[in-house]
Formats: sequence, C-alpha cells, structure tokens
Amino acid sequence: MKYAEVIIIGGGPAGSSCAWKLLQHNMDCLILDAHKFPRTKLCAGWITPQVIEQLELEEYPDIQINANEVTFFGITKKLRSKSHAIRRVELDHWLLKRSGVEVHEHKVYKIIEHNGFYIIDDKYKCKYLIGAGGTNCPVYHTFFKKAHPRNKDKLVCALEQEIKYDYEDKVSRTWFYENNFHGYSWCIAKKGGYLNIGVGGIFKKKKVNIKAHWTKLVEKLDQLDIVKNFEFKPKGYLYYIRDRIDHCRIGNAFIVGDAAGLATIDIGEGIGPAVESAFLAADAIINNTQFSLHTVTKRSNPVSMRIMHSLWKLSTVFRPEKINSMGFL
Ligand SMILES: Cc1cc2nc3c(=O)[nH]c(=O)nc-3n(C[C@H](O)[C@H](O)[C@H](O)COP(=O)(O)OP(=O)(O)OC[C@H]3O[C@@H](n4cnc5c(N)ncnc54)[C@H](O)[C@@H]3O)c2cc1C
Repeated sequence: MKYAEVIIIGGGPAGSSCAWKLLQHNMDCLILDAHKFPRTKLCAGWITPQVIEQLELEEYPDIQINANEVTFFGITKKLRSKSHAIRRVELDHWLLKRSGVEVHEHKVYKIIEHNGFYIIDDKYKCKYLIGAGGTNCPVYHTFFKKAHPRNKDKLVCALEQEIKYDYEDKVSRTWFYENNFHGYSWCIAKKGGYLNIGVGGIFKKKKVNIKAHWTKLVEKLDQLDIVKNFEFKPKGYLYYIRDRIDHCRIGNAFIVGDAAGLATIDIGEGIGPAVESAFLAADAIINNTQFSLHTVTKRSNPVSMRIMHSLWKLSTVFRPEKINSMGFL
C-alpha cells in the first residue's frame, strides 16, 4: 500500500494549490486524479487579479487581458476593470507541474477510516485526507454529506464550449438575466485564438431550460457577428455556490473548492475560493491549527458587482415582478 502523510483527491486548482503550499513546507503529499493531465475542465476561465496574485501567476504566459463589457437587463456597460482569462486545460496542468507534487492517475471509489488513517481503494493510505474532487468529490460523499448537506437552491447548472475561432475583438462579454434567466451568458476571448462561450445560472427546482438559453446565446452571437454558422456541441456541469460552511473538517478529512461548494454567490466564480480554501487547509495541517472557511471570498469583484447591483435595483423599479427572482445576486 502506498503511504503519504497527506493525500489530496483532485488535481484542479484546489488540489494543486494545496499541494504547492504543503510541498513548500516539505510535507509528504500525493495527488490522486481520475484523469491524466492536461485534462479538459468546463470553465469560462475568468480569473481575478487576486487569483493572479495568490497563485503568483505574473509570469504565467497565457493570460489574455480583455476589455470588460456587461449587459444587465439590456443595458450595456463597459467596465473600467479588465477581464483576465486563461484556458483551464492549460492552467490546471501548469499549476500541477509547478507544485512538484507526485500525481497518480486513479479514480477514487472507496475510502474508509481505520485506526486514525484513511485507506483509499485498499491501495493508498494517509494521515490527512483532502477532498478537492469538485462537485462529485468522494471525500464529500463519504464523510461530509450528512453534516454538510447541499442546498439545491444553490445549484448552478452551466453549459459551455471552448472553440478555436478566428476572432480578433478582445472583449469579455457577459449578459445577465436575459429571457428571465437567473444567471448569465458569456463569450470570452482566450490566447491562441480560442473563444469560450457559455451559459450558467441557478437551477431552481429544475425550472430552467438551460438548452433553450444556450440556443438564444448562439443566436445572439450570430446577430452580433461574433460567431457565425458554427456547429456547437456544448457540455454541461453542475456545481454549488456558497451556502453554510460549518462542517469542512471531520477528523483529519477536509473539503475544499467545489467539493465544499464555495463558488461566489454573485457570479459563481469558483477558482479564487478553491485556491483560498486549499491554502487554509494546507495551513491547518502545517501549523496544526483549526480549519475554517469563513474567511473565503463570498462575492466576486466588488466594484463591477456594485455597478451591476445598482443597475439591477434600478431595473426592479420598473419591473417589480423580478424582485424575488434574482438567482445569483
Ligand atoms: C461552465 C463553467 C464555467 C465556469 N467559469 C468560471 C470562471 O470563469 N471563473 C471561475 O473562477 N470559476 C468558474 N467556474 C467554476 C470553477 O470551474 C470551479 O469552481 C473550479 O474548477 C473548482 O476547482 P476545484 O479544484 O475545486 O475542482 P475541479 O476543478 O473540478 O477539480 C476537481 C478534480 O478532481 C478530480 N476528481 C473528481 N472525482 C474524482 C475521483 N473520484 N477520483 C479522483 N479524482 C477525481 C477531477 O478529475 C478534477 O480534476 C465555472 C464552472 C463551470 C461549470
């Protein structure tokens, strides 16, 4: 049986950030991931300046900086802040390599706790276990499901596709609350001639027909001359925005990132909270201290969100029926 003091399940931004920190303190750690990297991860790949700073990404060569344009109930506003975009297939692989952690391609099915250790699929053993496996993390399902039940009202449903496309206009566009949708759609340019297109929102009581919103987005891109006559094959993913986070450590098992459901409540940004929570878990192990996720960022970019919130308030004056139907804000 392979032993490591810390085993991290999942090599996304949460897992690799945790490993990076632990290895800086010479801890013995190992990552298990179901996929061989580089692997595709559905994600618009928008990152904040805070993430760039926390991950020390100033030298990362593949950040695309776009102008930032937001449409809110049909009102378009150019934001002063720039939008930073990366391709997840590249960044996640780069972060994992930079961390220097040993990675095993292994899909985890069964975890048991025995005599103060965790045994994973009868193959791996550790003292500390980090659940960084995203929404379907086996650490969450084995140890946290009862203590930390997920709130279905916080479930985000997203459809997305990243395409290679000849596109010069370096603008990140987001459209909020169109067609009575509790969420937004986006079109973001990436380095190397890629475009990321998607639609995501709160999946309240399965009332959302996400495919219909995707079709409307494709029509809009056509009308705006951004993407024409492209045969899309989008894929879907479910994850949770932040709710109560009282139980994020049980014994020496931790949950971080999407496994803990930490995406921001305003726009469902999950990379920053994944990194922050991973650093907190690493600190708790290194310094043998308490682990709490209460300090993890709850809302994304406060300046742009303040502007959008004001626009939203203004629009509800004219459309009072919308007041109770705000999903993300
Ligand atoms: C369409 C879409 C767009 C998004 N856009 C943005 C955005 O622009 N900006 C932003 O900040 N956030 C965005 N998010 C959210 C963001 O992608 C997630 O919050 C973030 O990836 C969470 O990171 P993580 O490391 O916790 O999990 P993940 O990145 O999901 O990594 C989990 C890893 O665990 C592995 N794994 C899972 N199960 C097992 C298992 N049983 N055994 C072994 N390994 C396993 C997976 O293979 C995966 O590599 C978006 C999400 C979606 C769906």
